[in-house]
Amino acid sequence: MARYKDAKCRLCRREGAKLFLKASRCSSLKCPLEKKGAVPPGQHGIKSHRRPSNFGRQLREKQKAKRLYGILERQFKAYFNKALKQKEGTGGALLQLLETRLDNVVYRLGLVPSRSVARQLISHGHVLVNNRKVNISSYQLKPDQIISLSPKGLKNDLVKQSLKEKSIKIPVWLSKKAAVGKVLKMPARDEIEVEIDEELIVEFYSR
Ligand code: SF4
Repeated sequence: MARYKDAKCRLCRREGAKLFLKASRCSSLKCPLEKKGAVPPGQHGIKSHRRPSNFGRQLREKQKAKRLYGILERQFKAYFNKALKQKEGTGGALLQLLETRLDNVVYRLGLVPSRSVARQLISHGHVLVNNRKVNISSYQLKPDQIISLSPKGLKNDLVKQSLKEKSIKIPVWLSKKAAVGKVLKMPARDEIEVEIDEELIVEFYSR
């Protein structure tokens, strides 16, 4: 599957926000955003940072969401079209769809240090949903489904390290016991901790 190949920290600098794309480095002082702040990438860095237009803000917000969840344009647009058909507000429905992707839930449960590691684990067949192997990162989870890891997945060094981490805050719509997680309910907007203004994304696609 196609993926972003651009240096990950560069993407955070471009969006001016921490997108948590690099495991433990993201929560350490080694993160360039901690050291230098959100200096845009490129030769001219901060000098190139002009006040964005409305369109620019909408575009950046859409790019930020795509990069945060590690999704490419076509799939992101497909999520938006799906969200349009939901009864609740489009922006909230879009975030709900993104949050309940299997790779995001494996990350949110603190089983791995980043969404990209979650995708790797899933594609190698180490993630189980209701005790059955699921190797599709975009698999959409529903309430009451149980997420666990294969015996080989549990031996993965990054998983072992993540499971030792005590500061992980599990969202209220998920629960976790040892290395087994459960989806308790679909997340409401105020239960999704992402700094994204989803209305700007709706405006972007409604132009
Ligand atoms: Fe790099 Fe992680 Fe910091 Fe983003 S949050 S700039 S990926 S270290």
